[in-house]
Amino acid sequence: MQMIPFVDLKAQYQSLKKEMDKAILDLVGSTQFILGEDVTLFEQEFSKYCDVKHTVAVSSGTEALILALRALEIGPGDEVIVPANTFIATALAVSYVGATPVLVDADDQNYNMDPEHVVRAITPKTKAIMPVHLYGQPADMSLLLKIAKEHKLFVVEDACQAHGAEYKGKRVGGIGDIAAFSFYPGKNLGAYGDGGAVTTNNKKLFDRVTLLHNYGQKIKYHHLVKGTNSRLDTLQASILRVKLPHLDRWNSRRQEIARMYSQGLANLPVTLPAIDKNSTHVFHIYAILTPKREKLQKHLQENGISAQIHYPVPIHLQKAYAELLHGKGDFPVSEYLANHELSLPMYAEMTDTQVQVVINCVRDFFSEK
Ligand SMILES: *Cc1c(COP(=O)(O)O)cnc(C)c1O
Repeated sequence: MQMIPFVDLKAQYQSLKKEMDKAILDLVGSTQFILGEDVTLFEQEFSKYCDVKHTVAVSSGTEALILALRALEIGPGDEVIVPANTFIATALAVSYVGATPVLVDADDQNYNMDPEHVVRAITPKTKAIMPVHLYGQPADMSLLLKIAKEHKLFVVEDACQAHGAEYKGKRVGGIGDIAAFSFYPGKNLGAYGDGGAVTTNNKKLFDRVTLLHNYGQKIKYHHLVKGTNSRLDTLQASILRVKLPHLDRWNSRRQEIARMYSQGLANLPVTLPAIDKNSTHVFHIYAILTPKREKLQKHLQENGISAQIHYPVPIHLQKAYAELLHGKGDFPVSEYLANHELSLPMYAEMTDTQVQVVINCVRDFFSEK
């Protein structure tokens, strides 16, 4: 039986092995482990990739979100509007700076924060809106920017799943005031450990993040603000520099695989991903919805195929957020997604044959019932 993993980082490494091994050995040989040329060059290259003026390479996506909020001087007493349907790090970053995450439900078509709910969640304490480009598809940025402008709010993009995705022809990362990316190994652009980036077109915010992520110093041992050590390891920057030139090709292959899935799974009693007419979707995750997702997941597993759930518990039903005093039924779309979502294997190195094996296995499941 052919095993089909959910992601295959080994296949990606094999495809880059020669270049990657050299980059790693060169960096180790240089002993430039903190900051230096590879970090600076990666920041420039990533800015160019995102079509944004500034990038600060940082230690994780969560840290990128925290630094973005700190740069905006958001803290205790402030509220930040966050989707209920996201990976928990989005809300955790808000809590970490001492502000309160105010949750809103998702749109049932693109699964991202619903602008209508955002409007209703605004209070005099609201400082920012934090849209997540979930699964690799941009949120409804035109409406969100309009709402933000009307209410004088900042827009912090959580682009941790959407490297390279476009909204109305503009890459994510430069649409709001400031954005966060993650280079967690399984993301569309992944390091060999933790990593992240903050991007912005605003020089002031860039300067603040630059200060904050390196102990608050511009000149060594002269500390202007209370910063942290949130730098990206130079080794990770070297690794990401090898990978970045391949990202567009990898995203195109993900889109091709998504098209094959959507064609192959048409006419089954499952909801397939809908692509927003304003967006390109880079398919960090190919999500289907079915009331039988546990049984389907088990059937796939028995046939050597790994499918996962993103995410089984929405933020408002997490124990960690009991303090928000939400309960079942508060965010019905997010709850529906949490109870029906299944993510099929998705990685650029997947062969057409592997995609077909997955399609056949899902079709078998439904024809048996
Ligand atoms: C991965 C992810 C994060 C956190 O990134 P880390 O690098 O794991 O800290 C934040 N938000 C979303 C939506 C993510 O998918």
